[in-house]
Amino acid sequence: MAKVALCACPDYNPDNVASAVDRAVTLCGGIERFVRPGQRVLLKPNMLSAAPLERRVTTDPAVVRAVGKLVLKAGGRIIIGDSPAIDKVSRISRVNGIKEVAVELGADLIEFCRPTLVKTPRGSIYHALELEETVLNADVVINLPKLKTHCMMLLTMGVKNLFGAVVGPRKSQWHMHAGTDRIMFADLLLDICRTLKPALTILDGVWGMQGRGPNNGTPCHLGFLAASCDPLAMDLAIAPLLGVHPASFPLYNAAVRRGLARSDGSGTQMLGDDPKAIFPKDFQLPVLESVMPMPGFLSGLIRRHLTSRPVQDPDLCRDCGKCAAVCPPESLRFVAAHRAVIDHLTCIRCYCCQEVCPADAIHFKTGALVGIVERLRAVMPY
Ligand code: SF4
Ligand code: SF4
Repeated sequence: MAKVALCACPDYNPDNVASAVDRAVTLCGGIERFVRPGQRVLLKPNMLSAAPLERRVTTDPAVVRAVGKLVLKAGGRIIIGDSPAIDKVSRISRVNGIKEVAVELGADLIEFCRPTLVKTPRGSIYHALELEETVLNADVVINLPKLKTHCMMLLTMGVKNLFGAVVGPRKSQWHMHAGTDRIMFADLLLDICRTLKPALTILDGVWGMQGRGPNNGTPCHLGFLAASCDPLAMDLAIAPLLGVHPASFPLYNAAVRRGLARSDGSGTQMLGDDPKAIFPKDFQLPVLESVMPMPGFLSGLIRRHLTSRPVQDPDLCRDCGKCAAVCPPESLRFVAAHRAVIDHLTCIRCYCCQEVCPADAIHFKTGALVGIVERLRAVMPY
């Protein structure tokens, strides 16, 4: 049975974080169960963008430090790495303090840039994937996600954090491939997770992000850390505690359909502190839109007029060009300084432009279809 340890942690005071991490890992069997002397241990925090720490976009350095110290105690050698969609690890880690922690731990801090083709395990949807060589070659992978909302996948936690092992521009290609199909994208995330098999996942939920995550939401104090050997079990156990209706969580739908999770949520044992004492009642989730399969011309019209669509605010734009660079179908282009036009017919609603915008200048305008679905959801029982 999968175990998920939940430990209260009020703030990022180093002693509080060290004690919560230690307790959570002990509940999972102790660090010696995962790391043996001399092993190369890859720590994979969320390093999405170079946002100041108080915006809670990235895994807090206090968590990376506490986990790193446990790894050193067990005799492991540490590598810290990620592949941000658009920025550089060197800049992000300087801004959020992870670079300082890497120096303190004597760890190598790397940008993933070596995509390697790897066969996926039996039962996968994709037969082979291109993933970062350093992650594939590590003796042990420890996954360090940040708890945030996600405008495309509803939430990003343990499973989604491993998408960082897809190297830079190849992320856009996968978005293009999955298009608006969230289940297809969830299938990809599940295959990445099953291929990388992180030994341990430790979720930073001390401060999370709610609303329009994963880059432009609002910080939300949750006050916990969680640990598990099974990132999928962890995500599916924590989502309902945040008020998520299972059927609206793409990862849940994909996992249940593939027999990787039970629809009644059984098969997971919660350890540690009482979730009722931790989780807020009013966590703000983003609204997901959906475009049902239908004839191309109808789908285009419905997508254009009834579904949510990205709009850019020229007054907030800093002209950095990141949104145009990341757009998989090249639907977004600049017609003048600060002013972008978006072709809503070819736009696949991947939310990448909103995710990378450092100025919060791209919003999704709610479509009429979303309003109808939300009203129906409000009057329908679970
Ligand atoms: S909209 Fe945002 S991402 Fe795009 S150029 Fe302006 S500031 Fe940069
Ligand atoms: S405009 Fe934005 S949401 Fe649309 S495809 Fe491009 S990056 Fe994705």
